[in-house]
Amino acid sequence: MSLDKQWVLRWMDGCARVLEQNREMLGDLDDVIGDGDHGENISRGFSAVDQRLSGIVVESPKQALRVTANTLLAAVGGASGSLYGTAFLRAARSVSTESLDSQAVAMLLVKAAEGIAERGGAQPGDKTMLDAWYPAATNAAAAVAKGATLEEVLRVAADAAAKGAEDTVSMSAAKGRASLLGERSIGHKDPGATSSALILAEAAKAAAH
Ligand code: ADP
Ligand code: MG
Repeated sequence: MSLDKQWVLRWMDGCARVLEQNREMLGDLDDVIGDGDHGENISRGFSAVDQRLSGIVVESPKQALRVTANTLLAAVGGASGSLYGTAFLRAARSVSTESLDSQAVAMLLVKAAEGIAERGGAQPGDKTMLDAWYPAATNAAAAVAKGATLEEVLRVAADAAAKGAEDTVSMSAAKGRASLLGERSIGHKDPGATSSALILAEAAKAAAH
């Protein structure tokens, strides 16, 4: 099995829908340890992506990911806009074929996670979206090495991201707005890690289509 540009289109369509459905929940999480705008930021961003992608002829997965990145960079204010924009830009750069096998998909996740880490300067454990992307990418790459199928690789990534987002509850924020609270951020789930887990769950769903 392999995935093509249609996978990216289904993925982004799913993201727009699920982030809109979870707008309030993500805003509430950000209210507690940030400024409350994460749900708004991210649902507006992915809705713009969905609109943009449906208005053009998409030639390749690379182009679809690049358009996604550029739209997020333009449409989303706040830290998450440039971080997600960078993630999808790096993902786009990692893709060089029309159809993606399990290795290409794992590499896409690894590059996206690296982009977030470089752009935001966070380490795993700093209670950021990287705590969803890093385990997702690492576990996806490990699954590929063990011969997992494409669907399995994306399922492993989605599960690792969900667990990673849960794990942010016990972390003390060291980056972003939440770091202003320091230890008082402990006990609360990071909004960016939560939206990232939703995004990675959609990547798996779009492949199981
Ligand atoms: P802002 O913090 O500017 O209001 P958002 O509320 O949209 O932007 O996004 C907040 C999320 O961004 C946080 O929950 C966190 O996951 C992520 N984030 C913030 N700063 C960083 C960083 N330096 N590295 C990685 N992720 C970060
Ligand atoms: Mg915010």
